Amino acid sequence: MLKRKHLWWQELTKDEILEDVKNTDIAILPIGATEQHGPHCPCGSDYFNALGLAEKVAGRTGVMLLPPLPYGAHPYHHWYMPGTIPVGYDTHTALLCDIIRGASQAGYKKFIILSAHGQVASTLVAMNKLGLEGHFVLTMHWYDFLRDNQTDLETPMVHADEAETSVALYLYPQYVDMSKAVDDGGTPLIDAKFQIKPGMAAKPGMMYHFEGTFARPEYLELKSGVIGTPSLACKEKGEVIVNKCVDYIVEVVNDINSRYAVGEKPPVDR
Ligand SMILES: [Zn+2]
Repeated sequence: MLKRKHLWWQELTKDEILEDVKNTDIAILPIGATEQHGPHCPCGSDYFNALGLAEKVAGRTGVMLLPPLPYGAHPYHHWYMPGTIPVGYDTHTALLCDIIRGASQAGYKKFIILSAHGQVASTLVAMNKLGLEGHFVLTMHWYDFLRDNQTDLETPMVHADEAETSVALYLYPQYVDMSKAVDDGGTPLIDAKFQIKPGMAAKPGMMYHFEGTFARPEYLELKSGVIGTPSLACKEKGEVIVNKCVDYIVEVVNDINSRYAVGEKPPVDR
């Protein structure tokens, strides 16, 4: 449970952090992106989603929240789109590593990088670099918790769509204008049946959506910037999604706590 007076690292003094690490040495680094989310959702959607999930997890478990990253790494086809500010993979990977290294100096032993944006290409590289240094790091992308129809969604989560817009309506409705929402999308360069979309359960013969150059650059391909069906979105679906994701992350935190005492690092070292 939360014992410190504020949720976030940046709101605490050094001494308050050093006191709190005696209660829990698990820290979550929420990472989002600055990316256009169609005509109806804000460019900070992924950032706000990461904050919303992380705050709810910290409220239930007491884990530390590291200062979040509003910029994210992006696949090649996101670049050059107005409203989107991508960080290169090398920069982003280096940033993630430096943040975890810095936080570990205060005594944190277990880290969860919680991403609300598709940036596995940098989170996985960062996690492996940190693993070689002996750090215990889990990386999560929130849409992975939506697979196998665990929610009431009618469409698999992609971008500024039913899922993301529902979460936006639940967490930050003041930035959403549903009168501007349009259902839209592009045409993949090979048959869509081979591609596992975010939020879609994998079947044999399918490739993960970041395993290929499946799409033309978005600034050429997309009219609205939406990929999916935001017209199906509602606040109630968003609440279900957020609660499912938070439950899952809390379960992971509880598992770590059941296996390792505070101050004990899981044996990642050689
Ligand atoms: Zn998004």
